[in-house]
Amino acid sequence: MAQAHLLRRRRVVAPLLPPQDLAADQEHLRGTTYLINGQQRLSFGSNDYLGLSQHPMVIAAAQQAASRYGVGATASPLVCGHSPAHEALEEELARLVGLPRALYFYAGYAANVGLVPALVGKGDAIFSDVLNHACLIDGARLSRADIHVFAHRDLNALAQALAESTAERKLVITDAVFSMDGTIADVPALLTLCEQHDAWLLIDDAHGFGVLGAHGEGALAHWGIATMDGVAPAWQGRLDRLVYMATLGKAAGVAGAFVAGHPDVVEWIMQKARTYMFATAAPAMIAEALRASVGLIATEGWRRTHLASLREQLRTGLAQAVPWDLWPSDTAIQPLVIGRNEAALLVMGALDRSGVWVPAIRPPTVPKGTARLRISLSSAHTEGQVTQLIEALVEAAR
Ligand SMILES: *Cc1c(COP(=O)(O)O)cnc(C)c1O
Repeated sequence: MAQAHLLRRRRVVAPLLPPQDLAADQEHLRGTTYLINGQQRLSFGSNDYLGLSQHPMVIAAAQQAASRYGVGATASPLVCGHSPAHEALEEELARLVGLPRALYFYAGYAANVGLVPALVGKGDAIFSDVLNHACLIDGARLSRADIHVFAHRDLNALAQALAESTAERKLVITDAVFSMDGTIADVPALLTLCEQHDAWLLIDDAHGFGVLGAHGEGALAHWGIATMDGVAPAWQGRLDRLVYMATLGKAAGVAGAFVAGHPDVVEWIMQKARTYMFATAAPAMIAEALRASVGLIATEGWRRTHLASLREQLRTGLAQAVPWDLWPSDTAIQPLVIGRNEAALLVMGALDRSGVWVPAIRPPTVPKGTARLRISLSSAHTEGQVTQLIEALVEAAR
């Protein structure tokens, strides 16, 4: 692995200063500036797209909940780990995404690995986008259903595979926003195709929730399917076999994930998903931190506006200024494709020396020959910090 430049090393990372000690003139450090292996770095590596992981209200909610509930949840949610905090969180999540019911999982990985086998099994068929996240793939494998992989966002290929399938139950699985590319799946077209072929649809909105939609509702709101105000008239009665999943450790800045959809489907998942039944619940303090963060997602639209303007600044600033391709993306994920693994590592190293940290992403996480810098923007960044990134990239190119 080392010879193929594939060896991964962990960095030891901490906020430069404790978030609760930041003075007014140090706000630009919050959620942006870290000690990485002991060195101060401006980071474009986290999925903290809205800068909520260090928000004072989110921190305070966790602290107060620790005082109220203690620290550990002590058991599986189905035994005695489900608190009033978890109960309220699920109601608030369902309300935000405009679907009837939600179920909170302690991690997104666990949610997908539990969900897919709860929905399909031996003799059924799964249709999976080639760029899907590892945990959708693992969930699919664990289900023992037949797996048909289709080219990235290729709806014609998907339609053909669905038409040819004789499986009793069919499930299409896809990222809503692809984690290494920032591309957005065409959810209305997928839903329509699934209707035509009597299939279920599972979308994983890990990178859309909080970022897309006027109130951060995610991919469904982006496509006008469902919002905080409920299901759009054109889609009413047509979402019974949609399973919406999003994670809460990214834009929401905390940890965990949720599944939302028709109440019977969510109930079924709660009864059947082994990763829900046989794992200790997330601590109530995490649920309370999430309630604070979900409130901020819904009400602070300026975070999404600011993020969009930083994205424009980056895209304009890099066009023509560096020899690498910034692939199109309307999300917080901006993939700067370098090509060879070694070259991507060299650029990452050059940025690091100028005080900016952007992770290089290599195969198998991305296809061979498309090693890239995965620039991830956050509403915590300032315009000045994005300028610093652009200048560091131009310098690295030179
Ligand atoms: C991060 C991620 C997950 C896993 O979620 P965790 O809460 O980190 O376990 C699932 N799906 C996608 C698309 C992701 O990017």
